[in-house]
Amino acid sequence: MSVAFKPPGQCPACGEWVPRGAAACDDCGACANSGWSGDTHADGLDLPDDEFDYDDFIAREFGGKSSKQPLTANLWWWVALALLIIFMIGALLPLFG
Ligand SMILES: [Zn+2]
Repeated sequence: MSVAFKPPGQCPACGEWVPRGAAACDDCGACANSGWSGDTHADGLDLPDDEFDYDDFIAREFGGKSSKQPLTANLWWWVALALLIIFMIGALLPLFG
């Protein structure tokens, strides 16, 4: 995303005052090349985004006993299985009764 910004003015990324003629924000390093987006420090490093939850990723990758989400999913899976078995017994019992 590119922001139309030309110094002097407030940096769109961090709000610091960028003096006239400055090529980049002194405070956060945002510049015209980065679109004043403030993420210049991550440029070229191919870092995962801020939303990346490492613990959740590990839990999902390795079976997820310590994560709440898979546990909840498992619980509902067992509930569904139990209901299915009950329905099957209910449907089959008359055949043997
Ligand atoms: Zn800035």
